[in-house]
Amino acid sequence: MSTITTITYLISSILFIIGLKNLSSPKTARRGNQFAMIGMLLAIVVTLFDREILHFTFIVIGLIIGSAIGAIVAKKIQMTAMPQIVALFNGLGGGASAFVALAEYYRSDGVLETSMIVSLVISLFIGVLTFAGSLVAYGKLQGLIKSAPFVFRMQRPLNSLLSLSFLVFGFLVVINPVNNTGLLAILAVAFVLGILFVMPIGGADMPVVISLLNSCSGLAAAATGFVLSNNVLIISGALVGASGVILTRIMCRAMNRSLSHVIFGNAGVVDTEDIFKTETRKVVRYVEEDAVMVLDSAQSIIIIPGYGLAVAQAQYVLHELAKTLIDRGDKEIRYAIHPVAGRMPGHMNVLLADANVPYDLLFDLGDINDDFQNTDVVLVVGANDVINPAARFDKKSPLYGMPILNADKAKNVIICKRSLSPGFSGIDNELFYNSKTMMIFGDAKESLGKMVKLLKS
Ligand code: NDP
Repeated sequence: MSTITTITYLISSILFIIGLKNLSSPKTARRGNQFAMIGMLLAIVVTLFDREILHFTFIVIGLIIGSAIGAIVAKKIQMTAMPQIVALFNGLGGGASAFVALAEYYRSDGVLETSMIVSLVISLFIGVLTFAGSLVAYGKLQGLIKSAPFVFRMQRPLNSLLSLSFLVFGFLVVINPVNNTGLLAILAVAFVLGILFVMPIGGADMPVVISLLNSCSGLAAAATGFVLSNNVLIISGALVGASGVILTRIMCRAMNRSLSHVIFGNAGVVDTEDIFKTETRKVVRYVEEDAVMVLDSAQSIIIIPGYGLAVAQAQYVLHELAKTLIDRGDKEIRYAIHPVAGRMPGHMNVLLADANVPYDLLFDLGDINDDFQNTDVVLVVGANDVINPAARFDKKSPLYGMPILNADKAKNVIICKRSLSPGFSGIDNELFYNSKTMMIFGDAKESLGKMVKLLKS
């Protein structure tokens, strides 16, 4: 490897680290992305010039096809579909790492040093597992597969058997690297395990599995980096792996669950008989005029955004409503952000930043949860699971133990959503039936738009 390549890889790695550091705050996230993009461009360009590439034909064809698909997807994708696209990208990252490792295996006819073949087996296993698992996560988020956990008898013994067979095949390949049947068996085992690993996780536990898959895609890339002896791939893979692990820990803490509980505990299992047990309860339907009266007379308001805000694309009108209320008098308006609100980590921050909501109005759960009891009104826009009191007391609920935003402690609660439908976890929310709750049924963008008009007229 030439000195120029080594130095450029070093610069790329530094740019990745600076990029990651900047991603830790919404204020600097855009700049962080730019740093990382420049780092990646440098790494790609220098790799193309450094390696002994004999024919660029396939590389150019790949670049054209990949860039065209990427550009079309980026242009056409709805903001609401971002979480499933992120899940898909994770999977493709894992799949690409596995393919590159496989190509290296066939290029060298399996004649590789032991350390290389161990890395190759790890890369193939994690890469394919991430690919298959991410496809299932994509299906769940896209609604192609039921989001509820899928469990069957013998699932755990089957998983254990598959894990054991990976170890056996992996050992056989390591002691006899030209054994490509063993390698193909590892591919098959990893694919089935990836599916079986994500199928039983569902409901509110999905954020944990998504961040874990994110981490796995990085680990697969790092392992492939060892196979190719490519430092920048090792470093960038390790960075993705490590940040994914940190994100997984944050998500576990947000859900108040241990990782093993999410993976092995079938924590999201819903007792379907219980879901609609409140069918006979009464709900009072309020209209926008009622909500405006309460909001207008309040001094302290906390807004809780949720996934429905993204579906309705109501972030702009929500910001307009908040500004209109502030203009009308002495009001304190803040936003409470639950770490798992929406369908991807940071989803609400991205949406609100898109609408130019000032960052200093956004408060994390831990920083605002004690303030609800002194708050006049909580305005919930398209959130459900993150305010479900069942998480506090219902031991049978898949949400049990997850810290929620204390919306029910406020003096008045206004909830904007289209119906009484449950959220992602699939369970009913008793806050809808609380006497201090005003349900405003309808698309959030339309309801909030009406409120703005009423306030201005
Ligand atoms: P929920 O999924 O609990 O609820 C969203 C609510 O939005 C629904 O009840 C729906 O009710 C309402 N809604 C949908 N469309 C509209 C619309 N156009 N206008 C108004 N309301 C609408 O969302 P939360 O954000 O409260 O919770 C997130 C859930 O997703 C958690 O269970 C979390 O674990 C899970 N999850 C989170 C991920 C993450 O990384 N953040 C990843 C994967 C899952 P209705 O149909 O009646 O309108």
